[in-house]
Amino acid sequence: MNKSPQTLLKEVFGYDEFRPFQEEIINRTLEGKDSFVLMPTGGGKSMCFQIPALCLEGITIVVSPLISLMKDQVQALKSNGIKADFFNSSISLQEENEVIDKAMKGEIQLLYLSPEKLISESNSWLKELNIKLVAIDEAHCVSMWGHDFRPEYTQLKVFRNSLPEVPFMALTATADKSARQDIEQQLGLKESKLFISSFDRKNLSIEVRGQVPKKKKLQEISKFVEGKRGESGIVYCLSRKNTEEVAQYLSEEGHSVEFYHAGMNPEDRERVQTEFINDDTKIIVATIAFGMGIDKSNVRWVIHYNLPKNLEGYYQEIGRAGRDGLPSETRLYYNMRDFVLYSQFADDGANSSMQKEKLNRMLQFAEAKSCRRKILLSYFGEHLTQNCGNCDVCENPPKDFDGTILAQKALSGIARMGEKEGITILINVLRGSNNAEVHEKNFAQLKTYGVGKDISFFDWRDYIIQLANQGLIEIMYSENSALKISTLGKKVLKGEKKIKLTYPVTVKERKTKKPKAVRMVDEGEVNEDLFKELKKLRYSISREENVPAYIIFNDKSLKSMAIDLPVTENQFLAISGVGMNKMQEYGEEFMEVIRKFKSVAKPKKIPTTLETFALYKEGLSPQEISEKRELQITTVFSHLSQLYSEGKEVELEKFVDSKVVDNVRVAFNDLNREISLKPIFEQLKEEVSYGEIRLSLALILKNE
Ligand code: ADP
Ligand code: ZN
Repeated sequence: MNKSPQTLLKEVFGYDEFRPFQEEIINRTLEGKDSFVLMPTGGGKSMCFQIPALCLEGITIVVSPLISLMKDQVQALKSNGIKADFFNSSISLQEENEVIDKAMKGEIQLLYLSPEKLISESNSWLKELNIKLVAIDEAHCVSMWGHDFRPEYTQLKVFRNSLPEVPFMALTATADKSARQDIEQQLGLKESKLFISSFDRKNLSIEVRGQVPKKKKLQEISKFVEGKRGESGIVYCLSRKNTEEVAQYLSEEGHSVEFYHAGMNPEDRERVQTEFINDDTKIIVATIAFGMGIDKSNVRWVIHYNLPKNLEGYYQEIGRAGRDGLPSETRLYYNMRDFVLYSQFADDGANSSMQKEKLNRMLQFAEAKSCRRKILLSYFGEHLTQNCGNCDVCENPPKDFDGTILAQKALSGIARMGEKEGITILINVLRGSNNAEVHEKNFAQLKTYGVGKDISFFDWRDYIIQLANQGLIEIMYSENSALKISTLGKKVLKGEKKIKLTYPVTVKERKTKKPKAVRMVDEGEVNEDLFKELKKLRYSISREENVPAYIIFNDKSLKSMAIDLPVTENQFLAISGVGMNKMQEYGEEFMEVIRKFKSVAKPKKIPTTLETFALYKEGLSPQEISEKRELQITTVFSHLSQLYSEGKEVELEKFVDSKVVDNVRVAFNDLNREISLKPIFEQLKEEVSYGEIRLSLALILKNE
């Protein structure tokens, strides 16, 4: 009897619900149809082919170019009791034969293959297999329009044509509209249906800081991570050298940090990655090679040390933060140098004009003065109707002003220097600085010399870049970044057109960010001590079994355990991420830790006044509180008085008439201000209740 996708989701993977589209994609695949799955990193693409693979009798082929990930993915499947294997250049001939043997015997449900192997083996044993589904992961690699083109991928169409009846599924986290069509065509998908899940990751805050000099950048980063001690994060750099420099700086500042790049030997890379996954190292400074497919749910922040080459890569990289849905921060640093450098790289590479175009879009994003999430999502074809409120622009909206005169100053400076000079010298001239180059070139004689003294160097830079973005100035990268005036710029210079500029936002002005109230839906109180214990256990098992810790249970599962404290098999199975296999494999050990914890931990006694306070805050009247708590009304008044004296927000005035308070004050003073209720009660001829006296005294004493 075949189990339903829903049953498999729970029994095998331990999840209660499908994410949007997963079930539809699975059902469509089971009907034998092709699909195109576009979901963000961490969106749950794998589930879309893994569950059909379990339903279909035969083998599912998964093509992926990320060889380094295959092992982890296969281990993760195996840990859930699924028969999976991989076949790529990293395994020995003997291992190859074992895999082939198992595949031929029908003992493999999912087989991960690199595209090279798929091509080289497609006419031998692969042909003999009972292939029921083919999933092409990272499908954007087939498109020349994408940013990660892999020539081997273009051969996949031949494979597709050799299996006309088998459903194919293309999966990717990055593909704009033109790339999508290209991918469908290149892979030969037939009447495929496109599934795009939302790319909006609301829990990620977005911030961009431009033109920060290196030293300051390092200081800022160090300060940033200082405030995040104990939390995991990644700094992405473009060069290997940078990763080592930044890591060293942070290490000297006392942070738990390692670098990671493709120039390291595989053992070191593996070690660094494992230590990060296990939280032994908190910060990784890496080239973009790091992080692909790491299912580390508790990465709390991502910093880009340089401008990424395109928005696809940028979004994927920041997407590695906050996979557990908790608020996480991202920050991008960029400067024009990065941009110029890549423009030159792009000139030399294949697809140069397209790469440049993507780079331009990246820069536009970095320099944008409107909601960044809107820009980012619209690039991926999703249109937000409202500003996000969780990016630096939303939090600090720029103010604009009539920038015509300012623009004219800059433009006339450019004109007078013969349109041959770059930004720096232009600013020096405008600011009238006594710089050697300025004098050498006789620019101090120019009429524009010193006309912009009142504006700081960095602000000028910001304005000039705004002028470039508005198309008044062209930066000629091929001519040492000389500035030229465009037709539009000429109009402004002649006073035929007005323009607006926005005030530069200085970093100091930025409001410090409060974490947004985005929380895990099912979050309760995580018992941190228990969470640590569970992590320790997970760590020792991962060492014993030689698998990454997250494959045993991810952080979210451990957190759920530390909230729900499961001690029976049924309770344990209810934890998200616990399927039958993991229950049998690890359940007892984890529950043992939880049981021990429970027997030691004493329930915390909540002070009785705080219980009253909680009800008060819920809006209950003193009378209602006294009924609910089965207490005397006097006791409730006494609680409220005490809470009020302690400074809690209690509107005590509401419960006692101000005339009564005045009378109590007189009696209290007559009786030498002794805090004793009975004499006051008697002094007032037993007309004022003890409760009212208590309230009055609290008010009198607090407000003197
Ligand atoms: P992608 O391949 O899209 O980057 P993955 O397939 O690796 O993402 O999934 C990301 C994480 O989400 C994995 O830990 C996966 O087990 C989990 N996941 C997938 N589907 C669900 C679901 N329906 N409910 C809960 N978690 C899920
Ligand atoms: Zn925004």
